[in-house]
Amino acid sequence: MHAETVAAELHESPAHRVLREVFGYPEFRPGQLQVIEAVLEGHDCIAVMPTGAGKSLTFQIPARLLPGAVLVISPLISLMKDQVDALEVNGFKATSINSTLDFEERRRRLRRLRDGELELVYVAPEALDGTLRDYLRACPIALLVIDEAHCISQWGHDFRTSYRRLAGLREELGAPVLALTATATRAVAVDILRQLGMVRPKGYKGSFFRDNLRIYCRKKGQGGDTRREILALIRERSGESGILYCQSRKTVERMAAYLTEHGVRALPYHAGLRDGERAANQEAFARDDADVIVATIAFGMGIDKSNVRWVIHRDMPKDIESWYQEIGRSGRDGLPSDCFLFYSWADVKLHERFLDGIDDPVQRNARHRATVRLFDLLEQPVCRHQAIVAHFDEQIAPCGASCDVCSGVSAEVLATRALEAHRHTTPTGRRARRAAAADVADPDLFERLRTLRKQLADAQGVPAYIVFGDAVLREMAARRPQHEAALLDVPGVGPAKLERYGAAFLDLLRE
Ligand code: ADP
Ligand code: ZN
Repeated sequence: MHAETVAAELHESPAHRVLREVFGYPEFRPGQLQVIEAVLEGHDCIAVMPTGAGKSLTFQIPARLLPGAVLVISPLISLMKDQVDALEVNGFKATSINSTLDFEERRRRLRRLRDGELELVYVAPEALDGTLRDYLRACPIALLVIDEAHCISQWGHDFRTSYRRLAGLREELGAPVLALTATATRAVAVDILRQLGMVRPKGYKGSFFRDNLRIYCRKKGQGGDTRREILALIRERSGESGILYCQSRKTVERMAAYLTEHGVRALPYHAGLRDGERAANQEAFARDDADVIVATIAFGMGIDKSNVRWVIHRDMPKDIESWYQEIGRSGRDGLPSDCFLFYSWADVKLHERFLDGIDDPVQRNARHRATVRLFDLLEQPVCRHQAIVAHFDEQIAPCGASCDVCSGVSAEVLATRALEAHRHTTPTGRRARRAAAADVADPDLFERLRTLRKQLADAQGVPAYIVFGDAVLREMAARRPQHEAALLDVPGVGPAKLERYGAAFLDLLRE
């Protein structure tokens, strides 16, 4: 071992040690350590950080260090399963308790919790009825985590009545609470503190500027053929995961059919589908069995996929906040991701029609103005990132290169290029070009690593990104580690994953 490494180890904090030894990451992202320290000191804490900032580690690291379990309230059962799987491959003792369990299994898990055998337990707010609630009081719970905490607030964009059951829980458990959200408005944050009864909370608010999202906006109805442009953009990204958002269910169905006809592995998702089909389509997307999900805004919170490489809006979202949340589902792994927005005044009018259902004229008016505000923002030649974060009261300099306004590369140029490229090149040629553009060191090796990842993931019944994220595979392709120690040096490879997957990847890398 190098002398510097030993020195670093002597001085490093326990949190840093877990980061390195368990997760395999060399350093914290902004804000993570502040939140972790607040939590370890026993403070209530609220962390407002954008999607992809790394909120999960702020309670997963304390879970390893605190005596007792971390109880995580999380809104969706589908999401919980992926999170528990991801924790297990990193060597954590984690489980979830929800309505899908049979009686025996539920009892077994609850007993493990009571006996102090678990580090993390995920629970849906719906499950917090009388009996479970009473039971939890007798369990060693070191920290209560409220994920997607904005769901407790009626001011948020995703209010859920079940979250109201959380009021009083902090008091009952006698444990400090950590509230996490990616919703940046002050009114929501204040509401969260009040509803959860947080006491002298520490707070951390991260920057909402996501420089890895490249934003391009394109006005519809100006000569272009939106459908063909979208197809060309998607084809150029073949094999990459992406979300195509449409405003209505009918458009979702039509676009999904159109893409499928043209050889794209796309599936529809909207609230009008049967439950079984909707869940199956979401699952296929999560497991990389479909590349594209064509969806209404009903698709969103249930996905935790880190390698979504692009988001295209066929229609304008209903306001700035929604737009930001929707594009934020791409690039969670920090790698560059493309966000295209097609918009028109007709979209504003369509949104207006949906407001008829709202009785309160003040509300109706406010919603309409929010939609118009987004349209106005798009019409202005101002850095897109700067305009978005300004909406969340944050000031930044123009992004310089991550939006069409700053880079001077318009969506129109990219769409035209994609249309033209499509007439000559083969899928392999396109992939190679994309890989070069994305700066992948060895596209062939990267593809083979991806294939291996998918095989391992399928054999285990987990989504591919849980094995390793794209960023990890890229780094492997660049470094070509030949032995265990070198593989362990790749950020994102910890000992647990090394033990589980190391041999398979090394075999491939040594070829
Ligand atoms: P959020 O919950 O804020 O949306 P996640 O917790 O899902 O974000 O983290 C997003 C991605 O960033 C995950 O793939 C995670 O493994 C990775 N990540 C988190 N913290 C770090 C870190 N300190 N260094 C490198 N990658 C990290
Ligand atoms: Zn910009």
